[in-house]
Amino acid sequence: MIRRMETTCDIAIVGGGASGLAAAIAAARTASGAGRSVSVAVLEASERVGRSILKTGNGRCNFSNEHVADGRMLFDYHNAAFFREVLGTLCNQNAVSAGTEVEGLPDARIVGEQGGTRPDPVLDFFEGLGLEWRQEAEGRRYPLANKASVVLDVLRAEAARLGVKEACGCPVRAVEPPREEGALFTLCLEDGVFWRAKVVVVACGGEAIGRIELPSGASGGNGLEVDVAPLVALPASPVLGPLRCSDESCRLTRELDNIRVRCTVSLFRPQDASDSRELVLVRAEPGEMLFRAYGVSGICVFDLSRAAQPGDTLSIDLLDPLVPRIQARGYLERRRDQLLALYDSLDCARFLRGLVLPRVADVLLKYAGLQDGDALDDAALDSLESALTMLSLEVVGVGAPDQCQVRRGGLSVASFDPATMEACALPGLFACGEALDVDGPCGGYNLHWAWASGLVASMSAARAVR
Ligand SMILES: Cc1cc2nc3c(=O)[nH]c(=O)nc-3n(C[C@H](O)[C@H](O)[C@H](O)COP(=O)(O)OP(=O)(O)OC[C@H]3O[C@@H](n4cnc5c(N)ncnc54)[C@H](O)[C@@H]3O)c2cc1C
Repeated sequence: MIRRMETTCDIAIVGGGASGLAAAIAAARTASGAGRSVSVAVLEASERVGRSILKTGNGRCNFSNEHVADGRMLFDYHNAAFFREVLGTLCNQNAVSAGTEVEGLPDARIVGEQGGTRPDPVLDFFEGLGLEWRQEAEGRRYPLANKASVVLDVLRAEAARLGVKEACGCPVRAVEPPREEGALFTLCLEDGVFWRAKVVVVACGGEAIGRIELPSGASGGNGLEVDVAPLVALPASPVLGPLRCSDESCRLTRELDNIRVRCTVSLFRPQDASDSRELVLVRAEPGEMLFRAYGVSGICVFDLSRAAQPGDTLSIDLLDPLVPRIQARGYLERRRDQLLALYDSLDCARFLRGLVLPRVADVLLKYAGLQDGDALDDAALDSLESALTMLSLEVVGVGAPDQCQVRRGGLSVASFDPATMEACALPGLFACGEALDVDGPCGGYNLHWAWASGLVASMSAARAVR
């Protein structure tokens, strides 16, 4: 094969998104903190780095969440044990090297009692870059300027100050391992150009990871026989997206297309495949839900999509923000008595007026097998109670990939050492962010992972450069 043009650097970072930019800064800082001159290059497929960051949080970038550091949501990650170890590594590394090796991360502490970290090294990182931020409901953190571009600006400015090279329009097709001890990795670009690097950090995100040829590392590929987990890439599937429902259920959702409701949505699964009547609760999420012609969307649905499987049932409680399920009957009876004091007679449509939108009322009546003018007797109240608190939809799958925020799958965490983010079977190859099989719920948790894992991977990568 004819090799065209060659560029060499010490650390090549594949992907200039969230984890890649954090990684580039951490690598350059670690090296300069140790008084070493190390060249860092970010190889980015598109024409600009950080485009993925600009899309986040509806352009506002929900860049982190308080409930990682306080430990409350540490268990809600896919591969949570690996995530916690990486976070622990980050905190411990910072504590050890505070003020010495790692500039700008001065306040880290070891992992706290609940497994949480106080203060938060990710927040320290951004504050060290000069990012002012504010916190909204449920611990969600946004830049004070309310624009994702501000987050990207501080990252790019620091990377530029540290001399990180941005190589845009450089889609990496394959990473080849060193052919002998002390040799370099080869990064083959799609246009035939290639780069050589002492160490490589894979930060290409979840969508691209399956398209880049990576060495398995099982036999080292570099002449070194290794008896550790080979580099395994799991198939990636989209999560954190809307849920598609069966045709039967869509008859209902179509009539409510584009209507938002505050509710609690519970996901149920048949206990055993042969008896679909026995349902067990998988998880429940309160929040705002959006009915769509194909099913349902909204943050609470996105979070449920991380657990949902075809054949599951969604049960929607439209009363839950007002009254918990257990008090629903009492509430509905009190409402009936209150309205009966106003009207001589009470029909079902009048009972629902003021409680839900007219279009929702129409659908609920149909679902309950009632007509507008039906009297609200006890049997009708039973049926309306069920419709209001247990509106059922059948799930057939997660929405299209471009409707989803994250990919589950990618590089198996079993192939990586959480203390360094280095591939066990391939020394010198590191990975971070969504390229690895870790994901969290909506609310800043995925970016938190991207930054934290990028920082750990590149601090280790910089130390590995000889
Ligand atoms: C619409 C949307 C909104 C979101 N909002 C939020 C939010 O508010 N909060 C939150 O926590 N998470 C959010 N997420 C998820 C979050 O954006 C990701 O989890 C995070 O960006 C992952 O970081 P990463 O570095 O792993 O990948 P990315 O940020 O996706 O970066 C990967 C980079 O690698 C580049 N690349 C890909 N292939 C190659 C290749 N072959 N060679 C070179 N470069 C390559 C890509 O162009 C990209 O720049 C959102 C996601 C989406 C889609």
